Amino acid sequence: MKEIDMEITLSTTKKTKPQADKLEFGKVFTDHMFIMDYITGQGWHDPRIVPYQKITLDPSAMIFHYGQSVFEGLKAYLTSDKEIFLFRPEKNFQRLNKSNERLCIPPIDVDKVLEALKELIRVDQGWIPDAEGTSLYIRPFVIATEPYLGVAPSDRYQFIIIMSPVGSYYKEGIHPIRIAVEQAFTRAVNGGTGEAKTGGNYASSLKAQEVSDKEGYAQVLWLDGIEKKYIEEVGSMNVFFKINGEVVTPALNGSILPGVTRDSIIELLHHWNIPVSERQISMDEVYQAQKAGTLEEAFGTGTAAVISPIGEFLWQGEKLSVQNGETGELSKKLYDTLTDIQNGRSDDPFNWITKVEQKVIQN
Ligand SMILES: *Cc1c(COP(=O)(O)O)cnc(C)c1O
Repeated sequence: MKEIDMEITLSTTKKTKPQADKLEFGKVFTDHMFIMDYITGQGWHDPRIVPYQKITLDPSAMIFHYGQSVFEGLKAYLTSDKEIFLFRPEKNFQRLNKSNERLCIPPIDVDKVLEALKELIRVDQGWIPDAEGTSLYIRPFVIATEPYLGVAPSDRYQFIIIMSPVGSYYKEGIHPIRIAVEQAFTRAVNGGTGEAKTGGNYASSLKAQEVSDKEGYAQVLWLDGIEKKYIEEVGSMNVFFKINGEVVTPALNGSILPGVTRDSIIELLHHWNIPVSERQISMDEVYQAQKAGTLEEAFGTGTAAVISPIGEFLWQGEKLSVQNGETGELSKKLYDTLTDIQNGRSDDPFNWITKVEQKVIQN
């Protein structure tokens, strides 16, 4: 095991852990967190695990004003053999560096940060829930901390990892959602920050979500910002369609977030010899397919839900149902296959799992 040189300060009080059936997303955090600092000239330094605590920033810290920040989201799973699994974590840290690059934030050392994460998980290993479908959600993020109101890349940053036990996304089993195609607002355009996991993309998406919520739709389908024709993403997920036996997902064009789940699904489909193409797909094509009866399935993909089947689209005032609003066979098979690998219920033919060795607990 590679060691990273860091200080560990254990908390003297332990929080009470929520009951497995009362877990809500992102409200309760574990006993510890990881932090390291960056100063221009000195680089990333002082990696440490400390009790979960508030951070103090100057009101002029650049994050508050110009939004220079990036984040990641991944999960740790406790298998029935009590092993701790991470799903392709190196992908998340590589993507963090791509987001960093776009936001003018200095890169982190992927291997070191992954070792730090493993150590943090070991320290808080008792926080990974073990009930079916539950996991420990991991949120690494970077913020610009330099106190300065000038518009420029910050000279100081903090990289932080916090963790939160989360319940099953589908408490009543996997079920389809209804989606409104967004026609007024745009999530991202080519040359913008759509490819980066940065808070600003989310801030600017809230308005569209507010409107669709009111009309009873779970998420919005984002179209391209120029012609408002081509499909990009659904809410904060990547999107797939199965049309006449072929699976289609929008090609990564610069304004689409390259999801780890998306990438894994494409690999699985190749492995199963199911035709899959990454290309432009217009809402009109989906509409025509639905009318012709060849729109077989539609689903969103992301770490939180893994697969989120889509049962209905609202487009230009018309309701287009998919699979009569039921979960498609392929959606279900992809969901089962991915969650079985993540939870150690099946083999890992693609080497996607990183095991976290646990600490021996001495009484
Ligand atoms: C994080 C994210 C996704 C999904 O990525 P995963 O790595 O699969 O979790 C898709 N779209 C957006 C906009 C995202 O922020």
